Amino acid sequence: MTTPSQVRVGKTTVTVINLGDLEFKLRDILEPRSIPESVPPKLLDVPLSFPSQAVHIRSGDASIVVDPGDFAYFAQYSPMYVRKDYVPEPSLVEQLRIAGVARQEVTHVLITHFHHDHVVGVTLPPREKGSITFPKARHYLGKADWDYPEVQKPLLDPLSIESLTIGAVNKQGLLELVQSELEITPGVTLIPAPGESPGHQIVKIQSEGESLYCVGDLYHHAIEVENPKCMSSWCDPVPHMETKSRFVQMALKENALMLAAHMPIGRVNGEPSRPKFLPQPELLKGFAEIR
Ligand SMILES: [Zn+2]
Repeated sequence: MTTPSQVRVGKTTVTVINLGDLEFKLRDILEPRSIPESVPPKLLDVPLSFPSQAVHIRSGDASIVVDPGDFAYFAQYSPMYVRKDYVPEPSLVEQLRIAGVARQEVTHVLITHFHHDHVVGVTLPPREKGSITFPKARHYLGKADWDYPEVQKPLLDPLSIESLTIGAVNKQGLLELVQSELEITPGVTLIPAPGESPGHQIVKIQSEGESLYCVGDLYHHAIEVENPKCMSSWCDPVPHMETKSRFVQMALKENALMLAAHMPIGRVNGEPSRPKFLPQPELLKGFAEIR
């Protein structure tokens, strides 16, 4: 895909930034008992390519970044998820610049969940220096992710990646912990969506009757959309299935666009009990087409 690229949601401009492509087999991430029998083994056992997408939202005076990852960090520390000959995309800050967004102007950073591919870009390398990537932005993280032992324990070590990222943001007084639905600015709302992680949240963008949901890692692949019980092995199944069902009902009612961090943009259609995912990558326009 071309990156960065843009789509309009009513009056709101949404820029999708692919930080880089991950590669893995679905079998390696899905809970084995949750995989429907109808899925052909071939789909599960071939390495597939997944984008890793951050988003910028311009809505009125607000300049909002969703899921600031750092692909270079991810490729270094999780090389099993990156093809050996992969040529990386420009960094998040560089792609924002291409899209006409300076990091100093960003007003809000929304973190769907505290998995490294969605959050490490809140500080700039070398991270020991403690430079905040978006120094004027309030940063929003689900409180249940912040409270989670997998985050709290490493925060005790000042050199852990948790301390060097979200810990640094917190020290600067820029961190907001979210416990319930929260309007960030008119037309942009954070909605709790637990399951993938305890504090996982999704972002609803609404303008002039159109809507788009940035759903983070609610899904990684269409088979999770189309099979309500299918999920990643680290999910908490009960809240996750409740979240999926709630999301599908909202998306169908609004004919909303959906952007998962690792999937192409598209729409959910069909029936609430038998949703289908329709990829619509043609909706995203590259900057060469826009100019
Ligand atoms: Zn992810």
